[in-house]
Amino acid sequence: MDGKSTDRREKQDLRRLGLQVLLAVSVWTLLLVGLLAWTLDNVNEEMMELARLEAVANFNKDQAFRAWATGHGGVYVPETPRTPASPYLSHIPERDLVTPSGRKLTLMNPAYMVRQLMEDYDELYGVKGRITSLKPLNPNNRPDAWETAALKAFEKGTKEVFEITEIEGRPFLRLIRPMVTTEGCLKCHSHQGYEVGDIRGGVGVSVPLDKYLSVASERKRNLWIILLVVWIVGLGFIWLGASRSRQRLLERIDYEAHIWNQANFDALTGLANRTLFMDRLDRALTYAKRDEHLLALLYIDLDRFKDVNDTRGHARGDELLQQVAQRLQQCVRDMDTVSRLGGDEFTVILPVIREKSSAAMVARNILEELSRPFQLGGRENYLTASIGITVYPDDGADSGELLRKADTAMYQAKAGGRNSFRYFSVEMTQQAELRVRLESELRQALEREEFELHYQPVHRLSDSQLVGAEALIRWHAPERGLVPPDEFIPLAEESGLILPIGKWVIRQAFADMARLDKIGTRLSELAVNISTTQFREKTFAAQLIEFLGKHPHMKQRLCIEITERVFMDEHSEPVLQLEMLHQEGVRISIDDFGTGYSALGYLKRFPVDNIKIDRSFVSDVNKDGEDASLCEAIISIAHHLGMKVVAEGIEEREQWDFLRQKGCDFAQGYYMGKPMPVNVFIDYMKSHKVA
Ligand code: C2E
Ligand code: CA
Ligand code: CA
Repeated sequence: MDGKSTDRREKQDLRRLGLQVLLAVSVWTLLLVGLLAWTLDNVNEEMMELARLEAVANFNKDQAFRAWATGHGGVYVPETPRTPASPYLSHIPERDLVTPSGRKLTLMNPAYMVRQLMEDYDELYGVKGRITSLKPLNPNNRPDAWETAALKAFEKGTKEVFEITEIEGRPFLRLIRPMVTTEGCLKCHSHQGYEVGDIRGGVGVSVPLDKYLSVASERKRNLWIILLVVWIVGLGFIWLGASRSRQRLLERIDYEAHIWNQANFDALTGLANRTLFMDRLDRALTYAKRDEHLLALLYIDLDRFKDVNDTRGHARGDELLQQVAQRLQQCVRDMDTVSRLGGDEFTVILPVIREKSSAAMVARNILEELSRPFQLGGRENYLTASIGITVYPDDGADSGELLRKADTAMYQAKAGGRNSFRYFSVEMTQQAELRVRLESELRQALEREEFELHYQPVHRLSDSQLVGAEALIRWHAPERGLVPPDEFIPLAEESGLILPIGKWVIRQAFADMARLDKIGTRLSELAVNISTTQFREKTFAAQLIEFLGKHPHMKQRLCIEITERVFMDEHSEPVLQLEMLHQEGVRISIDDFGTGYSALGYLKRFPVDNIKIDRSFVSDVNKDGEDASLCEAIISIAHHLGMKVVAEGIEEREQWDFLRQKGCDFAQGYYMGKPMPVNVFIDYMKSHKVA
């Protein structure tokens, strides 16, 4: 998995949420549209039913009236233009009567009366009525097509027919029910062959719909408004739910990205971590194999980074790593991957290179970039790195092999003087193996008592007297013979073996001094080399002081030689330890002076007794004017600060003379004597004037 596929999943999740919201909105809208349609239909039906009931009520009233009139065989009314003698009733003998007072009355048959009533009703209330029959007496009562169909249906048993129609451009509900022949009907209709119970016609009522429609449309409008509001509220809820889900989804995506970053990136520098690095390397190798191109891997280790951590603190160390990460990234292309494997180890994958030497260009670029000073807490820090390079396919075909070999090459670069890069080679592997063997042999050297101390005399320049000696370790390795300290001390420092070895040196030196004392060849001062690594042990000074307490013969006679590296940080413990030791009468010598750090301020602030001018300045003191001035300057500064100066590596008479002339205090070198085993040194002491 990588960043892109999580990206894709995020987009999918968001799209799915979008679809869900769309679905919810659609369902909600459909539901409300359905509900609206149903309720509107209901309103219509309800209005129709009410209109029908009104029509039925009218019909009933007509019926009651007609029944009453029929029951009484009609009604006599004065003969007026509106109520003339009916020509259809001329067959009835009593159609016209004259009242005793001479008023003429004529018989109104129920159908006529009802029709007139209907006309009045129409005029007053807009409700129209009509009596019709398939065999009407009055041609006005002849049915229209709809009525004819209804009347025919009545004969088959239908009890009611109604429809919505338009009359004179206005909407009406028209209802028609059958008219059943009763006893009273026969008075007028018996000549037509009617019998009681016959269905001989129908009574129609037309109710105007305007008022119903206007009520319905008002109710519909209200319904529209209510449902619209409900719809909007629903949409609001959907929106709320959706935005919450979206929020949760985004939080989850955020969280997943965070987890992904934690799993794949280095928290301190933001670079790819080991997991992502291996993943990328595997992938790059797959492409390199498929497309048959070269790939390079750079393994970068900062030189002496531990010193920065130890002297400036871990926070500054972290800051430095961050700055290094930034610079590394500036040195590579976008397609290259810079990773931090842990500690001060970095890698760069160059997934595609044109030729093997391209990797060297990048490596050189990185070394150059790192050589610019780093700003740490207002101070400048200098840093170098060692780089090992492997190339696919020359050095291997799988990521593990390329990484292992790049690591070996890096070690080789370190061993070759640091601040450099190396390509992997076969000899390199052999050398790496040699190193591993040497280390394991070194581990056994102490038990097997393969170490020995040699002593190199130190003389006073003013009177040539022997004033002391420096103890120098020798290793007689069984198969290798004599291994020089320059070859095994750095290895012992890296592996931590220097701690037990350093203790052995002090114990042995104290024992040898006791032996010298015993045979009457007393030496006033003995110098012992102490590695910076030994100072990192917080209890170093306390242990040495305790040891001195048990060996009173060494009181005021021990001098420790340390390098300037110990002074890199004024707040660090080594300095406190130096103060403790100095108070106990242990003298402090700065070894290899002039080769380490340029700052001299520490000389003033710390308990330093001697300065040892490095052999490299002394050897050319008579040939090189600069070296001569340097030696003079060192002597002058040291004396100003109340320190003594020891010149190392004096091999010739001229060097001795020059330094003596310049006021240097002591001298050490092959010219007087090489480092020698204690027995030889005893003889040496006997043949020289001892101060
Ligand atoms: P160093 O402390 O600077 O010791 C002086 C080195 O210069 C010694 O090398 C010595 O043999 C050599 N030397 C002295 N005079 C002359 C001269 O006139 N010409 C030449 N060419 N060389 C001269 P050595 O004994 O091989 O030691 C090398 C380094 O190993 C020492 O340098 C010191 O840093 C380290 N070392 C030696 N013994 C010990 C030890 O017991 N403990 C620790 N921590 N380091 C040690
Ligand atoms: Ca030394
Ligand atoms: Ca030295």
